[in-house]
Amino acid sequence: MKKSNYLIILSFIIIQTAFAQPPEVLSIRNYANQNAGKLIAEYSSFLSLPNLAADPVNLKKNTVFIMNMMKKRGIKNVQILEANSKDTPPAVYGEVIVPGATQTLIFYAHYDGQPVNPTQWAKGLEAFKPVLFSKALHQGGTVIPFPADGKYEPEWRIYARSASDDKAGVAAILNAYDAIVKSGLKPGSNLKFFFEGEEEAGSTHLNEILENHKSLLKSDLWVICDGPVHQSGKKQVVFGVRGDTHLDLTVYASKRPLHSGQYGNWAPNPAMMLARLLATMKDDSGKVTIQGFYDDVTALSAAERKAMGEVPSVDEQMKNELGISTVEMPGMNLSEAINLPSLNINGIQSGNVGKMATNQIPTTATAVIDLRLVLGNDWKRQQQKVIDHIKAQGYYVTNKEPLDEERKNYGKIIKVISYDGYNAQRTTMDLPIVQKLIAAIKTTGIEQLVLQPTMGGSLPLYLFEKLLKAKTITIPIVNHDNTSMQKMKIFGLAISLME
Ligand SMILES: [Zn+2]
Repeated sequence: MKKSNYLIILSFIIIQTAFAQPPEVLSIRNYANQNAGKLIAEYSSFLSLPNLAADPVNLKKNTVFIMNMMKKRGIKNVQILEANSKDTPPAVYGEVIVPGATQTLIFYAHYDGQPVNPTQWAKGLEAFKPVLFSKALHQGGTVIPFPADGKYEPEWRIYARSASDDKAGVAAILNAYDAIVKSGLKPGSNLKFFFEGEEEAGSTHLNEILENHKSLLKSDLWVICDGPVHQSGKKQVVFGVRGDTHLDLTVYASKRPLHSGQYGNWAPNPAMMLARLLATMKDDSGKVTIQGFYDDVTALSAAERKAMGEVPSVDEQMKNELGISTVEMPGMNLSEAINLPSLNINGIQSGNVGKMATNQIPTTATAVIDLRLVLGNDWKRQQQKVIDHIKAQGYYVTNKEPLDEERKNYGKIIKVISYDGYNAQRTTMDLPIVQKLIAAIKTTGIEQLVLQPTMGGSLPLYLFEKLLKAKTITIPIVNHDNTSMQKMKIFGLAISLME
């Protein structure tokens, strides 16, 4: 838990006042400080509930918990929103109708979390037993007791599954509303709250939920509270997300493993073939060499380019933190790089290494390719470009294990499995409602607000646009290292951050 302005920012988005240093900021900050003990205790109970999308019994406990949080805060029309498909994780909904309000904001977060592998969890800790640390674990933090006096230090962190991604979003949104009400203030817009339960499992049924409840979910803007703040530690507003899709590529060689002494130099080696194939996909400057790979990209507007130019540079800081001395595309900074479609190898497998290594020529080699998309790309078209490129390298492409007949006829055989994906989404920066929110955030006194045309990560935000014709902006609220810690599973932990 790192003390910062998030509760205040969210509160101000809700109130949307535009005074310099308004007294409201002070009331909300006081509320957060005075109630930290109570809020963290509630949050801790929330984090104790296992929240894997595939675990309906525990997921239900989460929905009940959230509904109670809402009712306790006076939020109305609290209910579960179901998809058509049976036994799928529901969303939790609630609303506050403000007399005289002319616009509606809807706040999104997700309450489900990534699967837990206990062997990858930090020693002595458990995913669903929240603990307080003196600072981040990777900075040498140690376990400390939750303070009896409710006074929390800025660098203290709570560790538990979803403490950052994204139960922090749920708690911060509801607490922001509570802070406003308890401070005697009044929201400036109608408010709706939508908490998804299947985001980490790919939001497979989100489309059904949105379609089933179209009129209930009508709004002027979705405010998405997910993802980490900027690496500089500064708050940011993000206007879009990258799309995402995957391909599994398996190159086939002999039907059984061969002795490298008996057959080396003679039998084809699938790992070498795959390595060669992958190497044809990018040049030394990191540019993808697949034909037409960058062709569909929608150019950034002047406002977006200007905002991007003002994003604080974190390249040197990140290189240091990550122990790397070069970047893949020299001359291009992180912000520019994530505004291009990417082709990344998630993993490669063939034969064995280390203690399991043998003198063999393996039978297959597999790589998982991750394609991130930007506005203008279509995930199916982007996959097809990769497949066409593979064919152009002389490969016979199949989607099944090759038959003997195929093995006889083709020297280079590859199985390509295409996974469903989704497209990128980007909201224009100059929408009046968005400008109003940016002004509201700025009144909370932060020195620089980073405006990012797109974030590196992916969320299915295109669905909101496609099904509800709705605009979205993302206000990430958790520590920037959340991603590296959680997704790379180094510690398998998430960091909480809420005031
Ligand atoms: Zn998330």
